[in-house]
Amino acid sequence: MNTTEFSFNASGWLQVFQVGVVYFFQHHVKLNTISAVGSSGGATTAAIMVFDIPADIAAEKICSKESLVKKDFKSIVKIVHKSIHEMIPMNAIDFLKNNCLGIVCSEIKNYRNFSETEFKKFTTREDIVELLCATCHIPSFNGYLPYRYNGKYLYDGVFTSPHPKKGNKVIYISCTLNCRCGCENNYFTISPSVEFPLRWCILPQDKKILRLIFYHGYCQSYRKFKEDPNFKKLFKFKNNIVNKKNNDNSLNTLMNSKICGNNEELFDLAINNQHKIEFYLSKQIKISNREWSGCKGYIKYLYLFVRIFFPCLPIIWCTQDRILRKHY
Ligand SMILES: [Zn+2]
Repeated sequence: MNTTEFSFNASGWLQVFQVGVVYFFQHHVKLNTISAVGSSGGATTAAIMVFDIPADIAAEKICSKESLVKKDFKSIVKIVHKSIHEMIPMNAIDFLKNNCLGIVCSEIKNYRNFSETEFKKFTTREDIVELLCATCHIPSFNGYLPYRYNGKYLYDGVFTSPHPKKGNKVIYISCTLNCRCGCENNYFTISPSVEFPLRWCILPQDKKILRLIFYHGYCQSYRKFKEDPNFKKLFKFKNNIVNKKNNDNSLNTLMNSKICGNNEELFDLAINNQHKIEFYLSKQIKISNREWSGCKGYIKYLYLFVRIFFPCLPIIWCTQDRILRKHY
């Protein structure tokens, strides 16, 4: 029986793109056995895939958390840790056959050695939860000290392995168009068609835009299957991707309705309007890039730097306001 392997890159808030891809696979593709590896937020997406957690529910949960970071963008790490505790099923260990989940962290081995470590063996659910929290542990966002697990000192996987490399036949899911690992040149890569700014990984867009990023992930998977016959040959479909013509050509329904797999009309609407979604996202990226360039941008980056590296200064109200004003 062939195992289909997936690798998810570090993603932060852009994880919602990867979850859109996972939804496509869960919903339309017959997969015999799978294995998935990921780093940072990508490790959580790998867990969603391996534990077959409904990706539509996971995505809507991510979108609903955006309002919680309005006061402090750094609270993302605490929110992620809490979500991981709630998300991993009680019987998680029963899903894990043949080392099918890989969680990549950065490990301090000694004072000179800071390197990538992949964990594949888990004996309890708590092991999985701890390691998923460790790979999302950014210094200064949740204390400076490393995450302690089983005598090991761990930090976010993004520092040593932003996109775990696992050979040529692996399907790489990247939340960025130009991933640092160079996977966009790989034959089996699903990535966005627009270039999300990297700061969107730590500074979230509002939930309406996060929902569109989810649908963009769904549409990019659809496109890969449709336009690439070799890719399609690798898989069997559970059902034909229904693509009923839908006369609704505004994106308001997608942005304002909760993501819900039972509402198939939303996914038809997304496929019918995939170019519109891209266009809308590109426009938001342009506006955001304008806000973060020139003198205004310089000041914003300065505030961001101060907020990340000098967390003790009592200026959070001022920095947060400057960073999040208008567009992130
Ligand atoms: Zn990559």
